[in-house]
Amino acid sequence: MKTKVGIIGGGPSGLLLSQLLDLKGIDSVVLERRTRDYVLGRIRAGVLEQGFTDLMREAGVAERMDAEGEIHNGFEISDMGRLHHIDLKGLTGGDTVMVYGQTEVTRDLYDAREARGGKVIHEAMDVQPHDLTSDAPYITYTRDGEKCRVDCDFIVGADGFHGVSRKSIPEDQITEYEKVYPFGWLGILSETKPVHPELIYARSERGFALCSLRSQVLSRYYVQVPLDDKVEDWSDERFWDELKARLPEDVAAKLETGPSIEKSIAPLRSFVCEPMRYGNLFLAGDAAHIV
Ligand SMILES: Cc1cc2nc3c(=O)[nH]c(=O)nc-3n(C[C@H](O)[C@H](O)[C@H](O)COP(=O)(O)OP(=O)(O)OC[C@H]3O[C@@H](n4cnc5c(N)ncnc54)[C@H](O)[C@@H]3O)c2cc1C
Repeated sequence: MKTKVGIIGGGPSGLLLSQLLDLKGIDSVVLERRTRDYVLGRIRAGVLEQGFTDLMREAGVAERMDAEGEIHNGFEISDMGRLHHIDLKGLTGGDTVMVYGQTEVTRDLYDAREARGGKVIHEAMDVQPHDLTSDAPYITYTRDGEKCRVDCDFIVGADGFHGVSRKSIPEDQITEYEKVYPFGWLGILSETKPVHPELIYARSERGFALCSLRSQVLSRYYVQVPLDDKVEDWSDERFWDELKARLPEDVAAKLETGPSIEKSIAPLRSFVCEPMRYGNLFLAGDAAHIV
């Protein structure tokens, strides 16, 4: 197979890039290791920053996001039991954030790629980029036991932090700056009314907590936990008790609790590599930087 840009990774970065390239008349092929259902089911982002939502609009995939997403002009910081409102829009000269799940972003991007006949190949295993410094780089992969090859002019590594692309760059050609935090965020999704219309970032003596949301009937809450904690250690009841203990009393009193429909622990890291290009390989998204 031949294409202009071979994109490794079909998460938000890879899919959005293929859409933007297509709008400029540039052909691409996306190679994704997982099934489409797996990618669509991955619960991650829920709060999208202005730069990303602007890019979704530029890519012509923002119709549902703008209709169903919730714009927030600010958020609250709770410091040792007191709420402080941060006027994001006023302080930034107009920027806001959008509450819209990554699952929905990915669905919109898949639909857009399909509508334009975009090539997204799922269950591409053993993906490996080759000849990165030549003007004829290529990618090999295996699908259904068959060895396949994509010849391209450029390769984009949009395969997340753990992907193969960045690891293909010789160690002496790249510098990685990384801070791994000694804690993770235990997050739950629950079909309950959010405790507050905007997000609350809460600092308390017991650790950090975040009250976030997906919609006015779907809440997303996090508490900071030690890295060696397991999800099984945290019953729903224990989670709600801990969250309440980290919030101001009047907020905790309003917290609506219920069964979790998803619960997971995300380790936290800040990371950036430099440069983000090696020959004709370009890194994008979490493959290149994480905040
Ligand atoms: C719990 C959690 C909450 C978050 N909340 C927010 C938020 O509120 N707002 C926000 O902006 N961000 C948030 N993020 C971060 C956000 O999810 C990521 O920045 C985003 O997913 C990055 O997209 P990406 O396409 O670069 O990488 P990924 O989403 O990691 O996608 C990479 C893709 O590449 C595929 N892949 C990996 N290796 C290979 C390989 N060898 N071959 C082929 N394919 C491969 C993977 O299967 C995956 O589909 C959150 C993250 C987590 C974990």
